[in-house]
Amino acid sequence: MSTQTIAVHLPDGAIREVPAGTTPLDIANSISPRLAAASVAARLVPLTGAAQPVEAGDVPSEAAMYAAEDAAKPRLVDLTTPLTADTRLELVTEKDPEALKVVRHSAAHVMATAVLELFPETKLGHGPATDSGFFYDFYREKPFTPEDLSLIEAKMAEVIARDDKFVREHEPREKALAEFEADGDFMKTHFVTKFTVPGDEVSFYRNGKFVDFCRGPHVPSTGRVKAVKLTNLAGAYWLGDEKNPQLQRIHGTAFFSQKEMDAHFARLEEAAKRDHRLLGKQLDLFSIQELAGAGLIFWHPKGAMIRKIMEDWMREECLRRGYSLVYTPHVAKVNLWQTSGHEGFYAANMFTPMELDDANYRMKPMNCPFHILIYKNSPKSYRDLPVRLAELGNVYRYERSGTMHGLLRVRGFTQDDAHIFCMPSQIEDEVEACIDFAKAVLTTFGFKEFKVELSTWDPNDRAHYAGSDENWKLAETSLKTVLDRKGIAYKVIPGEAAFYGPKIDIKLVDVLGRLWQLSTVQFDFNLPARFEMEYVGEDGERHQPVMVHRALFGSVERFFGVLIEHYAGAFPLWLAPVQVGLVPISERHHAYAKKVEAALKAAGFRVEIDDRNEKMNGKIRDFANQKTPYILVFGDKEEAAEAVSVRTRGKGDQGSAPLADFIAKAKALVESQSTEL
Ligand SMILES: [Zn+2]
Ligand SMILES: [Zn+2]
Repeated sequence: MSTQTIAVHLPDGAIREVPAGTTPLDIANSISPRLAAASVAARLVPLTGAAQPVEAGDVPSEAAMYAAEDAAKPRLVDLTTPLTADTRLELVTEKDPEALKVVRHSAAHVMATAVLELFPETKLGHGPATDSGFFYDFYREKPFTPEDLSLIEAKMAEVIARDDKFVREHEPREKALAEFEADGDFMKTHFVTKFTVPGDEVSFYRNGKFVDFCRGPHVPSTGRVKAVKLTNLAGAYWLGDEKNPQLQRIHGTAFFSQKEMDAHFARLEEAAKRDHRLLGKQLDLFSIQELAGAGLIFWHPKGAMIRKIMEDWMREECLRRGYSLVYTPHVAKVNLWQTSGHEGFYAANMFTPMELDDANYRMKPMNCPFHILIYKNSPKSYRDLPVRLAELGNVYRYERSGTMHGLLRVRGFTQDDAHIFCMPSQIEDEVEACIDFAKAVLTTFGFKEFKVELSTWDPNDRAHYAGSDENWKLAETSLKTVLDRKGIAYKVIPGEAAFYGPKIDIKLVDVLGRLWQLSTVQFDFNLPARFEMEYVGEDGERHQPVMVHRALFGSVERFFGVLIEHYAGAFPLWLAPVQVGLVPISERHHAYAKKVEAALKAAGFRVEIDDRNEKMNGKIRDFANQKTPYILVFGDKEEAAEAVSVRTRGKGDQGSAPLADFIAKAKALVESQSTEL
């Protein structure tokens, strides 16, 4: 045995000299047995280079489960992994956000264990953690039933109670493949073949009698999966190909405690109550009509009122910030889309061409080429730049039938789109102004938090991108410079750029903590070249302008959907389609109701009188169900005093107030776009 020593750097700055082969668990125990018991896994960070967070992709990647670990990158390992080289070490406890993925993936092993004990003929696919839980793909001739899920859940409880250790084992690749093939484990054979090479050792994990091909990490033992629930059963074709066998995907979720799991399901229930499709119906905001087609939105009067307010705000703000407003057509000749490159790069997302007598036309999936044509319609000099053209433009994109979702995924939508054409020297200021504008949108509409992502290209995948290497480098550097200059924290997402340039995406965080992708600022060297755009510079020479695409609501439809869910339909006063509901107590107060209505309308309010021959409480309830911010009730006493009895949404009866006072207070709230009442 060699007696080599390695240096383990701990987060508090201490450096432990330990024999090679020492495990994170040994180190945790030497610090404190309580820390060892609380630890779930360990994070190893290479000593060379800056510390970075462990990459946690949104999509569960097969490679992340099976491909060999990259020791040059930070990575999570089992507590029992022998340490063989100098490293930084962090013990990952249940509080660490990464720990949840480890327990969820471990729960997938527990589920597979239970399934094989109950249904030994089942073949295993793979079982990754996801953002909200985990799944495992199974193949079995007889599909699972919902009753089977209950059986599996009960068996999982037994597996957890056994508290079997997760033990890593290795086997030569060829031996593992031979065993999987002999057992007819076609999916495991596929994964081993895809992610290992001849001569490799294949990594397995054993818990009790169950063994699975996996690189880990896992929690120390099955007993650490303290709260688990199976949530859903769905069919999926193996490798997404309908010619392949149909798999059964069982979804579940897991937590370190029942309390956390209960909170999770309470959040889901709250989200379901806020579902914009449900509220859209209840509040009569919008509809989707089968006769017209999927993914096409009908804005009803109340939804349309909110949209008008959103659009008015946006147009005014654009003018204030130096944009010019334009309108452009919904269709154009295929030739235009050939010039722009959409016909090549984007055709799969476009509606198929329409044949007319003079040419083939296509619905526009983007407004960019139209704004370019306006720019090109007259010669430009450096003194004209930047040119900022804004439009609330309707675009149409092909989404597969069956993939549409309320206002969030549609085939026709309205972008609050703008294109900025400028000189390279102006680009950073323009991008900065876009980011300021985006922040103004989010705060005005009541969102407090946002996250920024910078999507860059993948230089190894050149076929998917237009533009030269130098252009990409300049574009990415400009965007980074602006974000750094503004002190905005951001995450770089390599390979996620648009085909024509890198982009900054701003994701807002709603009241339930969910992330929504809305605002985007995209750089473009490509279209100006394709359209041979020019301006005459100070030097008298012709130059090519650069172009920024930006949409801040993103899509008006989608932004509205997010607003509905964020506010659960209880819109702030300035956005509410009906701001004040009037409830005369009896018929003899109808004349006073008209007077109150006239006074409110004169002050700019959107008002509705309920003069039906109904009981007062019924009228109040109806306005309350419509989430009307204010309900004013009045009878003899109020009429005599030129007053109203005020009921405020969420606060109930606020007592009587002179009408003039109510108007003054509510007006101030509208003017400040307050989210309070
Ligand atoms: Zn595993
Ligand atoms: Zn554009």
